[in-house]
Order: sequence, then C-alpha cells, then structure tokens
Amino acid sequence: MKASPPSICNTQAHSSNSQPVSDKSTSSLIEKASCLGFVEIGFSRPGRPLFFDQFCSWISSGRHGEMGWLDRSVRLREDPVRLLDGGRTVVSLAYPYPPAKPLTEDGFSVARYTEPEKEDYHNRLRKLGRRVAKEITERYPGSKTRVCIDSAPIMERSFAYSSGIGFIGKNNMLIIPGHGSYVFLVEILVTVPLSYPKIEPMSSQCGSCKLCIDACPTGALDGAFSLNASRCLSYLTIEDPSAVGSETGKKMGKCFFGCDICQEVCPFNEGGSSERPALPSTKEILGMGEEGFSEVFGKTVFERAGLEKMKSNIRALRSAA
Ligand code: SF4
Ligand code: SF4
Repeated sequence: MKASPPSICNTQAHSSNSQPVSDKSTSSLIEKASCLGFVEIGFSRPGRPLFFDQFCSWISSGRHGEMGWLDRSVRLREDPVRLLDGGRTVVSLAYPYPPAKPLTEDGFSVARYTEPEKEDYHNRLRKLGRRVAKEITERYPGSKTRVCIDSAPIMERSFAYSSGIGFIGKNNMLIIPGHGSYVFLVEILVTVPLSYPKIEPMSSQCGSCKLCIDACPTGALDGAFSLNASRCLSYLTIEDPSAVGSETGKKMGKCFFGCDICQEVCPFNEGGSSERPALPSTKEILGMGEEGFSEVFGKTVFERAGLEKMKSNIRALRSAA
C-alpha cells in the first residue's frame, strides 16, 4: 500500500502482551513511514518465505559465486523468527533512490543505489527504520522490533512481495507499479501481531517483455527470474574478492561499480536516461591513497568494497576501452 494513510480493515488481533491491536495503530505507522519518505509499506506474517525453496535450489546450484555468507545463513532465512524471537509481523518498506545515473567528472558511472554524495544507505535506512519501529514500541510497551537492511539474513524481496507492495520482475527485482525498482527495501520484524487487510501478492506485470534478459551484457540473467550471480557485474565489481578481468571489463560499458542495465531497460523505471555529476574523475580515484579515499568515500557505500576493488574495476574498464 502507498505509504500514506489508507483505510485499514477493522480486524482485531491481539499482541503477544495481550493488548488489542487496532487499525489506528497501523494507520499511524503508515503515516509515519510516508512522512519519512518511504513510498510503500506492506505487512505480512513471518514463516517460511514464499521463495525459500527457489533460494535453496539456487544456492545448491552454486550460482551465488563466492558469497559463502548466503550459504551459511540459509537456516536463518527459513523463518525470520530466528532473527527476532516472538516475531509476529513483518513490515516491508520501500525507500526510493534517484533514477539519475551518478557520473564521475570524466563521464564514467556507478550504480544508482550507491548515492556517492551520501552516507552508506545501510546506516541511513537503519535510522529511518528505527524511527518507524519506535512508533510501534511506543504504542505497545514491552514489544520488540528488529530493523533489517539488506545485510541481515532475511529474504526481503520475498516478504515485500508477500506484503503486496510490488511484483518480482524477470530481472529478479521488486517492481512497484508507478514507481519502478529503484528502491531500497527495509524490513522491520515486530513481536506485535499488527492487523492489516488480507493481501494477495501482486501478479507479474512483465507480460511478454524480456528486455532485461536481452540487455544483460554477461548472460548472468539467463532466463526469466534466473540469475547466475557469479557472472553478474554487480557481484563481480563489488562482492567478488578477485580483481575484475579484462574480458569482464569489456562488458562493463562505462560503469565501474555495480550494474543497473537490467533495471535501466525496464519500462517500469522512468527517468533512467538522466545523469548527474557525483564523483571525482577516475584518474583522481586511481591516484588516491587510503587517506584520500577515506576522506572522500569514508562514510559511503564504497567504503565496504574498498579502494583497491574500486581501482581494479576502473583499470579493467579502462584497459578494455
Ligand atoms: S545487474 Fe547487470 S550483469 Fe547483473 S543481471 Fe543485471 S544486467 Fe546482468
Ligand atoms: S524489463 Fe520487462 S521483463 Fe524485465 S523486469 Fe522489466 S518489465 Fe519485466
């Protein structure tokens, strides 16, 4: 549902501490989320995520590359109550990032979600999520919440889908009709069984479109909803501990950190052709030491990948030019 006050069903539920859970409480939550800039908010119950079996098959097939942490967290992902004992509601929130492509001074680019001028989105979104969570704990004293950004082992797209705020596109992204897929997802686990209208997950609206599959430069998106992460530029330029090779460099175009191609071509995303200056030149980045990197990128999302990864990506891309 849009993060603005909608009408809520009158179903009465009871929280774990036996307080009545009224529709009014959910309305105030929706209003709060809207005030904080979230574009969608939805609700679902914890339990085995709808896409859990597919996730397990994907892990078994080894298509997750060297992301061993995914392997190790399978059990936690099977049910969010393993992240918050007594969890009764999952609140799914979507927060937008700008569709304009961030450019270096010399015309190279990075993925949009990085928002190079801002603090790492994990920190920003956690703060915002906690403000929504506070709304709940103030209303239900003794209740507990846990805010999860994408580093927590929860299948956020699966729960966002279950909550009815969007559908999963063939590019595996959560797509919110009228808004697109340029959103961060935040999940808040709550021990209160908040009431909400009965939700039907949204059917796919991709139809016969396969623009994202055709546009993927590496073949990582090798079918509808089918991703070989070990070939994906988002993985190779950020998560993969090895340096990017020149063959991959040839497929990177002008983007040296992440990849937005399967989202750029999606008709549900508007404004994707616009650009904005946001970074120093690649020459300047290549000349940086750790101190300079820390000054410019110390609080940003680039800090996680580190200066050497960033430099090796730029070298791969330039050597292929
Ligand atoms: S992010 Fe890029 S490389 Fe990865 S699947 Fe999408 S288009 Fe392909
Ligand atoms: S590009 Fe087309 S097929 Fe791919 S996610 Fe968007 S609408 Fe669906």
